[in-house]
Amino acid sequence: MPTEWCPFCPGSGRVPDRYDVHIYPNDFAAFSIPPPEPAIEGDAFYRVAPSYGRADVVLYHPDHNTSLPELSLGHLLLLVRLWRKRFVELKNTPGIRYVLIFENKGAVIGVTMPHPHGQIYALPFIPPRLEKELAAARSYRRAHRRCVFCEVLKRERRDGRRIIAENADFTAFVPFFARWPFEVHVYPRRHVVSLEEFRPHEETAFAEILKWVTMKYDNLYGLSFPYMMLMHQAPTAGQFPYFHFHVEFYPPHRSRDKLKYLASVETGAGTFLNDSLAEEKSKELAAVAPRRRVEVRRGASNAHASPHRSRRP
Ligand SMILES: [Zn+2]
Ligand SMILES: [Zn+2]
Ligand SMILES: [Zn+2]
Repeated sequence: MPTEWCPFCPGSGRVPDRYDVHIYPNDFAAFSIPPPEPAIEGDAFYRVAPSYGRADVVLYHPDHNTSLPELSLGHLLLLVRLWRKRFVELKNTPGIRYVLIFENKGAVIGVTMPHPHGQIYALPFIPPRLEKELAAARSYRRAHRRCVFCEVLKRERRDGRRIIAENADFTAFVPFFARWPFEVHVYPRRHVVSLEEFRPHEETAFAEILKWVTMKYDNLYGLSFPYMMLMHQAPTAGQFPYFHFHVEFYPPHRSRDKLKYLASVETGAGTFLNDSLAEEKSKELAAVAPRRRVEVRRGASNAHASPHRSRRP
């Protein structure tokens, strides 16, 4: 049981008394339908738009003290199906152009609620990083008549050095162009643009690869490994046949006790400095078992992180 009252725990009065997985409308929603009146008035130069959209919390499990890698495959499959169902609902909501499914995990990422959960934003615009990825995929397709992600997959599987886990339908690897030392991308091998196109065996394989990747993370240093996880899917309005569904994990740890910070060059210039080699970090991740074997320290990474954070001028 949690030490403090948790709205996501059964019995809180805020969620059903019994659930497996559950969509909970965010109490502090950044986006809503109908949106509130904008707090300030814009003009042609400083433009202002209402915060139209949806902000969901996805509760992964009723148990307060568990996490994605600890869930059974059967339970993870419920989660995958819920993501997919909600994606389709939000996709069909008028005015929505992008459905962003993500998870922030760990106190060092700023998560205040340790109960295992992720989030979904349904946005009236395509987020800028996705715009950029889409533009790159579109121009690659135009120039080479094929999907850039399928090409990445082909090269990664032929090379093999950066692959950390693979099953019948998915490949997980540290990308050649990793910005974070332990960044991992998960690609379905079939060219699908979104969760909606997943076949039943792909849902199961997806649950399995997510469990493997996150378990490897936990087993790497024996701590509940913080990360940001995002699903990159095609926008929900229009056709994007050149896009290829994938998941990107960005863990902030550089080592057991050191975090990577987005400092001046990353934040102010948009240039990521990564002093590690994808080929070396992938070897470390490939070597750890994707099974829960080690004792995992909970919340310990925060205690480790704070001295580094306070030292930063
Ligand atoms: Zn809870
Ligand atoms: Zn593809
Ligand atoms: Zn991406």
